[in-house]
Amino acid sequence: MQQNPSSDSIVSLRDVQKSFGSLRVLDGVSFAVERGEVLALIGRSGSGKSTALRCIDRFEKVDGGEIVVCGHRVDRPDVDLRALRQDVGIVFQSYNLFPHLTIEQNITLAPCAVKGLANSQAKDLARKVLAQVGLEEKLHAYPEQLSGGQQQRAAIARSLAMQPKVMLFDEVTSALDPELTAEVLKVIEQLAADGMTMVMVTHEMGFAKGIADRIVFMHRGKVHETGPASILTSPTTPELTQFVGTGN
Ligand code: ADP
Ligand code: MG
Repeated sequence: MQQNPSSDSIVSLRDVQKSFGSLRVLDGVSFAVERGEVLALIGRSGSGKSTALRCIDRFEKVDGGEIVVCGHRVDRPDVDLRALRQDVGIVFQSYNLFPHLTIEQNITLAPCAVKGLANSQAKDLARKVLAQVGLEEKLHAYPEQLSGGQQQRAAIARSLAMQPKVMLFDEVTSALDPELTAEVLKVIEQLAADGMTMVMVTHEMGFAKGIADRIVFMHRGKVHETGPASILTSPTTPELTQFVGTGN
């Protein structure tokens, strides 16, 4: 494992390039997330947000540039994917829970298989992470018995059970009704308050303003404007002005 001695960043991207065929999706993207920081990745649909997030967890390989995540050189072909994915939790818009497993089984699967936890330890852990997302009573339920918001909270709990050093969220509330969105955002807000390092792709501007330490506005595969949450109220580029003005 390659260490990055020059930085305390949990995640850092430097001049990252990524194309799909002839379509350049990431065109020299750089940003960093320090320990305990919340970074909100915003921008219009197609601007490259999900691709940037997927590169961090190596679901996509970059064409150029450097990505360091918890000391792992993600851009290198010899990156230890197993170690990387123990440090990084990722939650998508669709919940991706295994439908044929109970919530408890969904949560204990990876800690047992990947971390070698004993079944009893994993079950204790499942209770703990479900309490964190307010779903203790759903331990033995199946995903289809849960609302969308509850499923998303269970998916977050499943990620937390791996005790990641950083959590990535990709529009985790965009498939939910406003009421269910609020309960999921509350869980994320609590994680932030507890000091979890997070990179969050979101369309919830009010939420981003409230909890993000840093905003990265992407436009056409580039970081077009970045800064503290106040850039959402005082944007300097016409593109961000338009983006926040139109409620994206
Ligand atoms: P965002 O999350 O900001 O909406 P994405 O990162 O999903 O943007 O996509 C950026 C661009 O890359 C889009 O034009 C999308 O169609 C394209 N794209 C994303 N993934 C793939 C893929 N696997 N193959 C081809 N094109 C892709
Ligand atoms: Mg996306």
